[in-house]
Amino acid sequence: MAAGIPTHDAIVIGAGFSGMYMLKALRDKLGLRARVYEAGETVGGTWYWNRYPGARCDSDSYIYCFTWDKQLLQEWEWSERYPEQPEILRYLEHVAERHDLKRDIQFNTRVTGAEFDESNNLWCVHTDKGESATARYLIAAVGSLSDTNLPQFKGLEKFQGKWCHTSRLPSGGIDFTAKRVAVVGTGATAVQAIPEIAQQAKELTVFQRTPNYCVPARNGKVAPQLVKARKADYDGVIKRIRESFFGFEYDFIPKPVLETTPEEREREFDRMWDEGGFAFWLANYQDMFFNQEANDLCADYIKRKIRKTVKDPIVAEKLIPKGHPYGTKRQPLDSNYYETFNKDNVLLVDANTDGPIEEITAKGIRAGGKKYEFDIIIFATGFDAMTGPLKALNLKGRDGRRLREVWADGPHTYLGISIAGFPNLFTITGPQSPSVLSNMPVSIEQHVEWIADCIEMMSKTGKTTIEATPKAQEQWGSHVNEIVNGTLMPRANSWYMSANIAGKPRAFLPYLGPEGVGGYRRKCDEVAAEGYAGFTLA
Ligand code: NAP
Repeated sequence: MAAGIPTHDAIVIGAGFSGMYMLKALRDKLGLRARVYEAGETVGGTWYWNRYPGARCDSDSYIYCFTWDKQLLQEWEWSERYPEQPEILRYLEHVAERHDLKRDIQFNTRVTGAEFDESNNLWCVHTDKGESATARYLIAAVGSLSDTNLPQFKGLEKFQGKWCHTSRLPSGGIDFTAKRVAVVGTGATAVQAIPEIAQQAKELTVFQRTPNYCVPARNGKVAPQLVKARKADYDGVIKRIRESFFGFEYDFIPKPVLETTPEEREREFDRMWDEGGFAFWLANYQDMFFNQEANDLCADYIKRKIRKTVKDPIVAEKLIPKGHPYGTKRQPLDSNYYETFNKDNVLLVDANTDGPIEEITAKGIRAGGKKYEFDIIIFATGFDAMTGPLKALNLKGRDGRRLREVWADGPHTYLGISIAGFPNLFTITGPQSPSVLSNMPVSIEQHVEWIADCIEMMSKTGKTTIEATPKAQEQWGSHVNEIVNGTLMPRANSWYMSANIAGKPRAFLPYLGPEGVGGYRRKCDEVAAEGYAGFTLA
């Protein structure tokens, strides 16, 4: 490459939902030379990597898709309310083919580092294939939950059976038939995987550290009339989800639960429970997120459901959450999760009552002084969320400052999309944006469109760098924290609070704005309308 002349206009890292749309926008809308690097062998991102049994989307399929391809919205037929992982992957493959995206994506290539070259105002990007490329803009489309967390269990190297993290299953899957299987973890992934594995395995032992509040998914076929009605009103659907709080067609109940009668709230709880999905979590009484007493009323309803479903009262008590308010951890959706613990071949080992995992042995796991033998161990132990995938890129900004160091005490961003000292770098659904607290495609599309508009503005106005000011970044960080500190969210040791990774500084990772994704979108649009307030343009 000639000095100062970039090999590309923009480099995108990742070819999941966000990288695919970013490529489409850069190349086909703005006419730029864009290159995407993707570590996987095809498109899909999270839907390529997470192929554990039972993996499916927890958002309704009609809104878990791209809304920019209006024709495809009409043509594509989802088979169920929540699409399974292979179906989402098929959908994304179809989009890639339909828009000829793959020709600009280099697969099986992991970005290992990138630094900002201040003399030429370019990003220089390096890959594990030994290549380097340069571009004016660098866009991280690396996903929020892509950096696998495999805790350092003592003795893992001695285990003689098979083991695997849920986000790294081999492409053909794992045959659990007639096997003694352990699942470590009881988050949203495990809650999906456990019922499926229990059906195949000879014995399944679940190692639970913290029980979760699960609510029914109620997956199934969607009535053809409803599919038709939604298709006929897609413009309305899109408008509503974009302006909503969480990117779904949900609204909070406009009344505090503390002002309801027992009969009234029981009716509402029953209604949301029967509706299934995130209704109970995201369309409940709003004071549930702010007031412990209000929260207890919602939590109590779920506790009663658990006691009713799980036949063995001792197992039921183990499955009942005790230490955190309802809704402060990611809501797992249950398809026969609690029922699975009624099966004769399923055992629950609870860290609090039975003792924590002490070590992995040659034959299995020792927990609470007791030895358990397994053929397969599945670690459903989650991810170094949001900051992990960005830190893993080994980014160096101005003055060679490393993102790892700049974020040593937690994320610092402006709007979750830009980082002071890292010019022309954009982070799609980055930390301190609504991201994982929303229906992801809604937030992805909003960021991609905002970034594309920004780049278009840059080229029209002849600017070469855009960069968040430290002041705007600091104010945004204070705003993010002030809001979350007014809620019950900090009371949970959740991955939202960075609490799932040993040594990770406690910080709230997404943004829970007072008006949700709708308000956040308006804020980003205002920033742009005010000439990119809070940014320095040069
Ligand atoms: P997770 O929510 O972080 O759960 C990890 C589980 O592993 C937790 O039960 C955790 O216990 C346990 N764990 C972690 N380290 C451990 C250790 N050292 N010893 C024992 N147990 C340990 O991860 P996840 O279930 O993979 O879910 C991550 C996120 O992925 C979800 O929250 C969701 O946003 C996303 N997801 C999405 C979908 C979907 O929509 N399709 C499906 C699944 C997941 P503690 O709770 O005590 O930390």
